[in-house]
Amino acid sequence: MRITCPYCGTRDVVEFTYQGDATVTRPDPASTDQAAWNAYVYDRANPAGKHSELWQHSGGCRAHLVVERDTVSHVITSVAFAGIKPNPARTTTPKRKSPARKAATRGKAAS
Ligand SMILES: [Zn+2]
Repeated sequence: MRITCPYCGTRDVVEFTYQGDATVTRPDPASTDQAAWNAYVYDRANPAGKHSELWQHSGGCRAHLVVERDTVSHVITSVAFAGIKPNPARTTTPKRKSPARKAATRGKAAS
């Protein structure tokens, strides 16, 4: 399986670490509803088909990603940075800063 990191491009799955179900939502931290906390910690669906998963590009840029993957065919339909609203444009090859622009940015940060 290969995952296309929005920043680094297409990489083998060995560079990534699976971090769980991306559809789980954390209860309100002030909540004392034990059933809600139990469901948040332990209850997971095991779908055969499309699934939204969290992965970290641990062997690369270390970005956290939301990967939409079919658990049967392993076909990945989208990859986006976690915490950022999915944008189809982010699933394509990333735009990188040119070396000259990187140098200019570094110069600004130093001054
Ligand atoms: Zn990456």
